[in-house]
Amino acid sequence: MSNMLSKLIALPDFKVGPVYEKTSKDGIKYTELDLIYEGPVLDTCPDCGGKMYSHGNRKLTVTDTPFLGHPSKLTMNIPRRRCKDCQMIWRPEIRDVDEKHLMTTRAFTDIAQKSLKQTFASVADEYMLAQNTIKNAFTDFIKEKEDTLRFKTPAFLGIDEIKIKKLGEVTVITDLEHRTLYDMTLGRNQASLTEYFSRLPDADKVLWVCSDMYRPFEKSISDALPNARWVIDRFHLVAYANRAMDEVRKSVQKGMTKKNRIRTKKGLAYTMRTRLKNLTPGEAMKIRSCRNDPVLAPLATAFDLKEDFFNIYDENLVSKENAQQAFAEWERSIPSDAMYDDFRKLAGTVHNFYEQIFNFWDCPISITNGFTECSNRIIRENNVKGRGHSFEILRGRTLYRRSNIDSMLKNGTASIGPSIPAKGPVFHFEETKKASVDEDDTFDGIILDDPLMGLVPGVDFDPETGEIFEDVDDYEDDTYASEDE
Ligand SMILES: [Zn+2]
Repeated sequence: MSNMLSKLIALPDFKVGPVYEKTSKDGIKYTELDLIYEGPVLDTCPDCGGKMYSHGNRKLTVTDTPFLGHPSKLTMNIPRRRCKDCQMIWRPEIRDVDEKHLMTTRAFTDIAQKSLKQTFASVADEYMLAQNTIKNAFTDFIKEKEDTLRFKTPAFLGIDEIKIKKLGEVTVITDLEHRTLYDMTLGRNQASLTEYFSRLPDADKVLWVCSDMYRPFEKSISDALPNARWVIDRFHLVAYANRAMDEVRKSVQKGMTKKNRIRTKKGLAYTMRTRLKNLTPGEAMKIRSCRNDPVLAPLATAFDLKEDFFNIYDENLVSKENAQQAFAEWERSIPSDAMYDDFRKLAGTVHNFYEQIFNFWDCPISITNGFTECSNRIIRENNVKGRGHSFEILRGRTLYRRSNIDSMLKNGTASIGPSIPAKGPVFHFEETKKASVDEDDTFDGIILDDPLMGLVPGVDFDPETGEIFEDVDDYEDDTYASEDE
């Protein structure tokens, strides 16, 4: 039995002695194993050559991975010896035990990995440890990763931002070529981004930056990323066409009797936001029937304007010239009526960011931040699990999943090596689409199968600077509530 246990425990230099089934004062059953040291001891002092004598034992209790379904503790008796000449005290080095955290190395790794996905409280229960112990181990795990992993600066870099309650704005930086999350940084303004980019190793390797229309980026990019060209993310841009269309719908509905309003509202917002090619025959009929109705005709016009705006990209993916022409035609097609003013504003925004928007056609890959929405959702979910914890924990939780690190090592965007002055982990995000986070009051993401459908939750923007304001409350009122009014 003891021999088999020793093999199971697999700690070099130790053999398993008595095993106790114990119950903690909180009534939790756990296993305690006494380990007996059987490794080499030193007889001669390495410093002076003097003779070493026994100097008692040190008892060390460490946490191991759960054993036979219960938390387990290992009690190790470690011999100490002392040199009679120089008083040097020796004790064997204990392999596979993390003495700082008082746990086996495998327990440390397991706790860190579990903490990426579970709450600290649930890991603490499993291990019969205090939550703080779990949190500290995880924090050290993050630091360890930062010191040992080296990351390749993306040639195609995406910038996006999300608002996290209690933490504020978080800038999310992605490798768009490899579809990996590169880093997260607190704050979002020109100064903090310029600072971040100037610490980026190989900043000259960044060739393309894709982001939303936030004018201050321009200076951050030109100051710190000398070879980069800025592209406005098409995903963000086309979302404004949906917003403008919604404004037309609202103004049409405002003029109706309540009864008609309810009738036309039922599902209409959703139908109108659906791309023409994805409409069911019934939905297509709904749009068509608007065309001949004097009151509802503007809805069809708005739908067409939205479609034509999306098609500036979709129908002109190879020719920049054609795309620019399509935009010019689209702008001319906006009716002069005031209810279409938001489409006119959008045209103005396109003119303000004309160069950066049409840079898209010069970029060798079809560059978009669309997938960043998915990583943003992971960040939000992690924030729910780690509610109240620091940004560093949120960031570590998001960046250092084992499978992600493994796959990014595989695709060559990271390597293990000495620490570098600027940190910047890469993370291969998992493409999961369904969100199941009900308790999250910060969660406002709707993940669509086709992100380019452009349904960006709660986006509002300043047409002058192009700055995007995320307004969760507005979105909820606007879209969910009104559907069931
Ligand atoms: Zn000595």
